[in-house]
Amino acid sequence: MKALVKDIDGIGLTLREVKKPTIQANEVLIKIKSTAICGTDLHIWNWDAWASSTIKIPMTVGHEFMGEIEEIGENVESLSVGMRVSAEGHIAGSNSRNAKAGKLHLDPDTVNLGVDREGAFAEYLMMPASNVVALPESVSNEVGSILDPFGNAVHATLSFDLVGEDVLITGAGPIGIMSAAIAEHVGARNVLISDINDERLKLAQKVCNAETFNPTKENLKEKMQSMGLKEGFDIGLEMSGSEAALDQMVDAMIMGGKVALLGIPPEKINFDLSKVIFKALTLKAIYGREVFETWYKGLALLDSGLDIKNVITHTFHYTEFEEAFNLLNSGKAGKVVLNWH
Ligand code: NAD
Ligand code: ZN
Repeated sequence: MKALVKDIDGIGLTLREVKKPTIQANEVLIKIKSTAICGTDLHIWNWDAWASSTIKIPMTVGHEFMGEIEEIGENVESLSVGMRVSAEGHIAGSNSRNAKAGKLHLDPDTVNLGVDREGAFAEYLMMPASNVVALPESVSNEVGSILDPFGNAVHATLSFDLVGEDVLITGAGPIGIMSAAIAEHVGARNVLISDINDERLKLAQKVCNAETFNPTKENLKEKMQSMGLKEGFDIGLEMSGSEAALDQMVDAMIMGGKVALLGIPPEKINFDLSKVIFKALTLKAIYGREVFETWYKGLALLDSGLDIKNVITHTFHYTEFEEAFNLLNSGKAGKVVLNWH
């Protein structure tokens, strides 16, 4: 079968033939239909310090996908051939204290699809049946391929009660934008999303009705005044990984406000902890999803009318992968989908 493989110690990926996976009793074989490119895949493409020290080549990459079940193992009961599915790409172990307590998202032995084991940018993917999530008809193939980052947005955004609250989101990448749409959908009062890239702010306006703000061009205090905010934001969602954005967020929070941290700084940052203490802020670090609870909530949000499809700006055939990765590297795209049929 064809797969996009990291097999060189340098920039890029190779489209090549690899062995079609076979399945065991508790696994399923999925025929891939749509995949989406994640920031993680871009790190692997660019072969930065993290990627080159983490990925053991050769490795098929990709973890954001949907497809159709082609074959099921003999012990698999809840899934059937022909089902449209996606899957949780964090494959938890079963031995740690957290895994035994059912807190799969906190298992330190978790293995990541497309990073530690053969990924989804291929014609077929083998997955443990327990990680597979069936998709309702109402979820299109393309939206089905972005449920993994949507899950990051769902987990971070629903970390705190947002009803009637004023929310600041720093970073209008796909995850920040989907978070803004979720915050509005569940009843936040004001949602402001910031980015230093105007293209990203324009994309945010196509997905949600949040106010937008570019910190390199506008003054946040004036923006808050124009929105009628007197004491600061109640909830902060840091989704850029930028030191400057985190500083700005801490300054703009109300006393006792709550902040979810999702963005990953590329290196060690300077952070004014005493400001957080004197403001009595609550910080919550977000990693991945709360696994199946997040999948449940995410699909329920989509079922109740949340529309995220416009965060997908480009769709390519998988053979056009070079164009797709170059476009994403240029910062001029939102979610980029590769179709496999
Ligand atoms: P992205 O890189 O597409 O978006 C980040 C955005 O932040 C960019 O548009 C960038 O222009 C913007 N930005 C940079 N400096 C800024 C500033 N000073 N103020 C406001 N915005 C600024 O990323 P994404 O795919 O949307 O993911 C968001 C972040 O979450 C990334 O840092 C990613 O690495 C991280 N992430 C974390 C997890 C997790 O489990 N914690 C999972 C997935 C992604
Ligand atoms: Zn991802």
